[in-house]
Amino acid sequence: MTPAAIVDFLAEREGIARGRSLLRAGASRDDLRSAVACGAVERPRTGVYCTPRLASAQRTAAAHGGEVACASALRRRGVWVLDHEERPHVWVGPHGRTFRHDGCRCVTHRDDGISAFGDVSVVRALVQLATCLGDEAFFAAFESAWHPGLLGETERAEVRAGLRAGQRSPTDIARPDAESGLESILRLRLLRRGIAVECQVRIDGVGRVDFLIDGILIVGSDG
Ligand SMILES: [Zn+2]
Ligand SMILES: [Zn+2]
Repeated sequence: MTPAAIVDFLAEREGIARGRSLLRAGASRDDLRSAVACGAVERPRTGVYCTPRLASAQRTAAAHGGEVACASALRRRGVWVLDHEERPHVWVGPHGRTFRHDGCRCVTHRDDGISAFGDVSVVRALVQLATCLGDEAFFAAFESAWHPGLLGETERAEVRAGLRAGQRSPTDIARPDAESGLESILRLRLLRRGIAVECQVRIDGVGRVDFLIDGILIVGSDG
């Protein structure tokens, strides 16, 4: 198999595949070595090959042993995530091996399923986030994913089903019109203190305000 044919094979598989799949498709070990040597193909870890154009997050996840997960997968889809560390979160399946690689700061996720390459679904990422970063981060990400339509009714039900019973209450008060993650967190905190709050209220002479608390106090959140 020529380097170009190997690149085509990888491109048909979202840019990444195991070496054994390439061998089965007719590549020899020498073909793989040549493709890496000439720079047409990269090897994020032993036995895994990718095109140089593969997103760096996916390459890091493959080097670590799995898929872009949790906060990392959500951020890549534009979801707002409360996490200042910004470490790579990687799902390797329940018994998946992890691999040493340069600059590894990964957070390993081991929930059930069969991991491969690429990004986990938004549903799986949100369920992972609830356990990994807590309910406020989960709530903000859930609303942030709902707002642009990344979470339909079916997906919201799947997220809820994936959560433990004690993690589900934020999904009962989530709404599709939150405009920033900080707004979501502020509203969650107010509601949990039993404070009545209306969101995105239009007030004559003022315009639209983020929150109206007990009908008298206007709060803006700068997200
Ligand atoms: Zn995580
Ligand atoms: Zn790592």
